[in-house]
Amino acid sequence: MNHLRIRPKRRYLVRFDPKRIPHMFTDVLVIGGGIAGIRAAMEVDAALQTVVVTKDILEQSNSAYAQGGIAGVLDPLDDIASHAADTIAAGKGLCDESIVEMVVREAPRRIREVIDFGAEFDREDGELALTQEGGHSHRRVAHALGDATGKEVMRAMTERIRARTNGQIWESTFIIDLLTHEGRCRGALVWNARHGRTFIWAKETILATGGAGRLYRETTNPEIATADGHAIAFRSGAELRDMEFMQFHPTVLYIAGSARYLISEAVRGEGAYLVDGNGDRFMADYDPALELAPRDVVSRAITTQMQKTGHPCVYLDLSHLDVERIRERFPHIAKVCAEFGLDITCDRIPVRPGAHYMLGGVTVDARGRTTLPGLWAAGEATSSGLHGANRLGSNSLLEGLVFGRHAGAGASAAARNRPDDFAAVPITADWSSTEDHDDERLNLGDVRNALTSLMWRQVGISRDAEGLNQAAEQVAFWDRYVSSREFRDPPGWELQNMLLVA
Ligand SMILES: Cc1cc2nc3c(=O)[nH]c(=O)nc-3n(C[C@H](O)[C@H](O)[C@H](O)COP(=O)(O)OP(=O)(O)OC[C@H]3O[C@@H](n4cnc5c(N)ncnc54)[C@H](O)[C@@H]3O)c2cc1C
Repeated sequence: MNHLRIRPKRRYLVRFDPKRIPHMFTDVLVIGGGIAGIRAAMEVDAALQTVVVTKDILEQSNSAYAQGGIAGVLDPLDDIASHAADTIAAGKGLCDESIVEMVVREAPRRIREVIDFGAEFDREDGELALTQEGGHSHRRVAHALGDATGKEVMRAMTERIRARTNGQIWESTFIIDLLTHEGRCRGALVWNARHGRTFIWAKETILATGGAGRLYRETTNPEIATADGHAIAFRSGAELRDMEFMQFHPTVLYIAGSARYLISEAVRGEGAYLVDGNGDRFMADYDPALELAPRDVVSRAITTQMQKTGHPCVYLDLSHLDVERIRERFPHIAKVCAEFGLDITCDRIPVRPGAHYMLGGVTVDARGRTTLPGLWAAGEATSSGLHGANRLGSNSLLEGLVFGRHAGAGASAAARNRPDDFAAVPITADWSSTEDHDDERLNLGDVRNALTSLMWRQVGISRDAEGLNQAAEQVAFWDRYVSSREFRDPPGWELQNMLLVA
């Protein structure tokens, strides 16, 4: 495991004086309304007060975009040891085997629990329908709405959390920084357009801010995935690890003008071929598992094949598969492609890789504890040891459920044991106003575009020492004039976070 050895320019992104900002107190603060944050909040004791904060509306998260499904041993012919072995093989020897064992063992219970929460999973002859994805040696991925599992799971869980009476949900509220005092996390400084800045003091805080895909020009991730949580935790002194590991999804729709829409691995699981610009099926040249090789193998193979053929993408070919089955299994993918004139049952789908899943993150133990007392974490923002160097498909919604539950239970128990003292602690953040700059002359969007292009070119699927050194120097250059500024709203804070994490 590699540990970071860099220092952020400032402990807090903005100056503040607690005498001039409104205060609010809660037992447990949950940062993030994706699967990990919501599952954590559900676990907090009903006698305690919870605040869930999300920077967009609750429906906007990586979780809501998840397509393929959730992995777990649900077929009597499958077994836990096989799910664990597949996870470890994909992780390239860097998984923590005790964590893998714990997570895959819990998986069937966590999936059945989501069904109890009201999520309607797809069924065949009354039984849960299971599909196979790359790197899995068995059909063990449960899915919903065909290819919109995240949408359905989040619908059910969000309804549950909104119905709870001991909690508040603050949407469109941005966490600027965690508050720390005497080596302990004490809550967070937040901002929203209605109230401006507020201190939320919490006995225990859970960080579930998701991923970092938006650091890259080509990504499957929605706009919220700007690595805020990684940067926030790092500035607070929590340990992060394995930040070099970004997973690239092999098959992202590549049509000029379309969003970079993910074409789920389950499409290859159902038998789709990958063909190059000449129409040749090429995976046999790279891996005996062909189209179902792990994601890193397929992503590299596609990049190499694009270079060999001089073609800007490769194609998914489903034309040999049963038309009705394809329409039923992938209704959303079919709809998106149809908007660009493609019929997935007979036309080839142009695809290439894109940044997909952030493997590195805030170090957590099996209970979801970070290295900073008072701070728990779960989901894509963390490094739990489950994924190692490469995530097995459909293991991340699972990780969010398992670690969300653990972190929620742990934070809840810890908060119950702490008295209600309702006191703000004397933290201030200040620096000389001679460092003020005129923001009018800084085009944030321009820096952001340059950063994401640089990350894609030089910190992407293929990397070398020279390219990485050049990229590091360039990022440090941008960071010098962006991070010395003090911004008033999320676009500036997001860019500062992205530069730190880059
Ligand atoms: C297109 C796509 C398809 C996928 N398909 C699958 C799949 O089939 N199976 C699978 O297992 N995984 C899949 N994944 C991965 C999986 O969806 C994510 O890893 C997982 O959902 C992450 O959950 P999370 O709760 O950690 O974060 P998220 O769901 O991303 O939630 C993050 C939350 O944090 C909030 N937040 C972030 N920063 C701030 C801030 N500064 N202030 C306040 N709030 C903040 C956001 O608003 C959001 O509510 C897919 C991902 C994508 C993008």
